[in-house]
Amino acid sequence: MPDKVVRVVRRKSRGQHAWVFSNEVTKAEGSPGPGDTVQVYDRKRLLGSGIYNPHSLIRVRLYSEQNEELDAVLIQQRIEAALAYRKTMLPGEDDFRLMYGESDHVPGLVIDKYGSHFVVQTYALGLDTRHELVVAALREVFDVASIIEKNDFRLRDPEGLPRRAGVLFGTPEPRIVISESGAKFYVDPAGGQKTGYYFDHRLTRYRVKQLSAGRNVLDVFSYTGSFAINAALGGAESVLAVDASAAAVTIATDNSVLNGVAGRCQFATDNAFTALTDLDSQGRKFDLINLDPPAFIKAQKDKNAGMRGYRQINALAMRLLSPGGVLVSSSCSHYLFWQDMLDMLVAAAQDAGRTFTILDRTTQGPDHPVLLSMPESEYLRGFVLQVS
Ligand code: SAH
Repeated sequence: MPDKVVRVVRRKSRGQHAWVFSNEVTKAEGSPGPGDTVQVYDRKRLLGSGIYNPHSLIRVRLYSEQNEELDAVLIQQRIEAALAYRKTMLPGEDDFRLMYGESDHVPGLVIDKYGSHFVVQTYALGLDTRHELVVAALREVFDVASIIEKNDFRLRDPEGLPRRAGVLFGTPEPRIVISESGAKFYVDPAGGQKTGYYFDHRLTRYRVKQLSAGRNVLDVFSYTGSFAINAALGGAESVLAVDASAAAVTIATDNSVLNGVAGRCQFATDNAFTALTDLDSQGRKFDLINLDPPAFIKAQKDKNAGMRGYRQINALAMRLLSPGGVLVSSSCSHYLFWQDMLDMLVAAAQDAGRTFTILDRTTQGPDHPVLLSMPESEYLRGFVLQVS
């Protein structure tokens, strides 16, 4: 059990939020060091146990409401609980985000599972120092072929953590085949973006598949073609996919072969803004457009500039829709809240001179659970609009 104690000001508005900010801390007893576990008290009340980082604005990340140690046993229990939850929510699936940080009660730990290959990301100091425990726990629960860390991302900077990537266990494969709702995809965890594959959009992809029959589809920001291939599997007449990354387009092309839909898919390496402008000037029209841009708003301060980017790309896409056409528009920016996104789409529709009905809303799949007490765990939002 943690023997050091952090005391915090009385919590009202933050409730059971998993983060304790530096300005909430009134006292640290027993001089906790970087990555140490601590008990957190709000006056006499135990809030729980957390990991301490004196260099971060997020001074403590709570991993438990009890007084208990973050050891191999606890990490294993958390992984087993997360696995059981995913087996219930995603029956028949073997590839998914296994651990989604705070939402799975191990703050700062993300693990994607590609069959027996695992990709770990840590963005809390206290998890970085516990890599060995994570590897040991994974090996207890699964028959592990490999574990790599993909810790070369921006979120590590505020924790004072260096960016790095490498093998933690076993022999990784450069190209793993995964499956999602029956579709197959090559994933290159080490060479690809983020952890290699974007599991978060599984529900949106299912929607696109359902809506694609007989349609001419455009998939913008297509990465390795997960939406494009789902559209083709759903019976699309033709699919054009655009992404700026040549490496991603190569894998996307191979993915279309893997799924037997290469004949109806075309992939282009291009900037989305210029590609959509060119398609418009050629008078091209599409019956369904999927728009999944990278996060244009990474921090609150980027909000206005990011909103303009979303508005511009959405207006460009809206102009390309045929009568009755469908736009599946997503945002992975946490700060683009539902109402902001709606406002942005209203403005974009006005720019494009088109009127829409909302068919549906989409969000992150069940392997990215949202913690009720932590709005930051929700970031993926989307609208399915139809030209009316
Ligand atoms: N839809 C994908 C994920 C998209 S992630 C999936 O479900 O797998 C965002 C993608 O946008 C990345 O593949 C990145 O290469 C691409 N990208 C970023 N900026 C771009 C731009 N200006 N034009 C085209 N593609 C871009």
